[in-house]
Amino acid sequence: MALDTPTVALADASLLRDQAFIAGTWSDADDGRTFAVTNPATGEPIAHVPRMSSAETRRAIEAADAAFIAWRDRPAAERAALLRRIRDLMIEHRDDLALLLTLEQGKPLAESQAEIAYAAAFLEWFGEEAKRIYGDTIPSPQPGRRILVTKHPIGVCGGITPWNFPSAMVTRKAAPALAVGCTMVLKPAEQTPLSALAIAALAERAGLPPGVLSIVTGDADDAPAIGRELTDNPIVRKLGFTGSNEVGKILMRQCADQVKNVSLELGGNAPFIVFEDADLDEALAGLALCKFRNSGQTCITANRILIHDKIYDEFVERFTHAAGQLIVGPGTSPESSVGPLIDAQALEKVQRHVADARDHGAHLLLGGEAHERGGTYFAPTVLNEVSPEAAMSREETFGPVAGLQRFSDEDEAIRSANDTPYGLAAYFYSRDIGRVVRVSEQLEYGILGINTGFISVEVAPFGGVKESGIGREGSKYGVDDWIETRYLALGGIGR
Ligand code: NAP
Repeated sequence: MALDTPTVALADASLLRDQAFIAGTWSDADDGRTFAVTNPATGEPIAHVPRMSSAETRRAIEAADAAFIAWRDRPAAERAALLRRIRDLMIEHRDDLALLLTLEQGKPLAESQAEIAYAAAFLEWFGEEAKRIYGDTIPSPQPGRRILVTKHPIGVCGGITPWNFPSAMVTRKAAPALAVGCTMVLKPAEQTPLSALAIAALAERAGLPPGVLSIVTGDADDAPAIGRELTDNPIVRKLGFTGSNEVGKILMRQCADQVKNVSLELGGNAPFIVFEDADLDEALAGLALCKFRNSGQTCITANRILIHDKIYDEFVERFTHAAGQLIVGPGTSPESSVGPLIDAQALEKVQRHVADARDHGAHLLLGGEAHERGGTYFAPTVLNEVSPEAAMSREETFGPVAGLQRFSDEDEAIRSANDTPYGLAAYFYSRDIGRVVRVSEQLEYGILGINTGFISVEVAPFGGVKESGIGREGSKYGVDDWIETRYLALGGIGR
């Protein structure tokens, strides 16, 4: 195995893979081409992995098709036991998986450790849940007939995942799909294929049959061809995608030709509202967590921070002080709380948003520029009085930048919060029970964090409304995205 970093000291070196996993075989690209996976903290390559395209994707799809019937027909308890073995291996190798994740993605090790636990939890949850996929009987309106409802795995599925949660987004798709009896061909993001390949290595070790889960790698130039094969190949019955709205819409259009089932987990533009009756300590802690986690590179990060006029000045002062305590540094250093951004393009976008907010009248209270460490590090930033017209109020910034705005009444806060085509997550803090109910009912979002900044857990349905997506991942509802409902009309029964 030709890896670039002898310094990557994994306890189990075989978890660092530089080949894709197709039909149960570790494979190079047909033409032998590779691309570099780099460490965003240093810009150094970690490994080179195959640049694959439609031919390799097609082979993975055909292998998934060949594996489907036998996998589908296994008792759910057997599939659950296998997924549980993969989960146990992930926990056993959690330190290695977390290190790999930090090296390719940049987030602090403690966050990577948490992501591995979260990723592993989907395998356990969905394995168990798949044992409880029940059908139904419906009283027939006519004599001599019976109506039975049955549930079936959709079939061969495609999965495409982003770089910001390179492990959790893989299992949040693969675990429910495999648990219910589907097979899957998954393409991880260009920046973070190593976490997905490590999960495949553990799945192989656990005894997952060949073809049930294949991982096809490629860089950004290869992604359209891989995506095309997944959407155009009639063997594939469903595509699960997590990523940007722009790419989600392209894939949805491509799926339309065959009316292919899609689940889309797309971007957000989360409002974070603090009402005047909120517990400020709680609100400050919740905002710091949800804003700066993963350097602000999450789809559920607070993007528009709306603070009531009466508490605005105190909140801004205390929040700016707290943000100033964050330590920027490589994810591998235990002191670091904010790692590098994923790449130079991400840094450029954050810089552009800060400049644009200032052009629209915002005042800079903290940071505002690339961090002195260089590379793709950006200093934790707080901006005051951000205009609703500024780019950062309208698009995802995906950086450690908090833009605060003021509001003076509940209706205004709700109107501003809903003034976006997105509808993934929203947060608000209030101790007034009437307000909690009123505001919850009016916010147009799939997920509401009420007096909490932490909302990601495998037992709850994660997903958006409006342009943030279709479908739910996690919870008993997450099973529905990977099964289809049939009904049997039984006639000629006689009574
Ligand atoms: P992205 O650019 O849309 O990429 C996502 C995936 O799509 C990558 O694997 C990418 O491959 C692939 N891709 C790109 N163009 C494609 C095409 N034409 N056909 C098929 N696949 C294609 O998004 P990202 O920058 O990686 O991720 C950040 C976005 O994901 C943000 O908008 C964030 O909000 C969203 N997100 C949403 C959720 C959620 O649950 N709603 C969770 C996490 C992230 P390459 O990497 O090879 O280009």
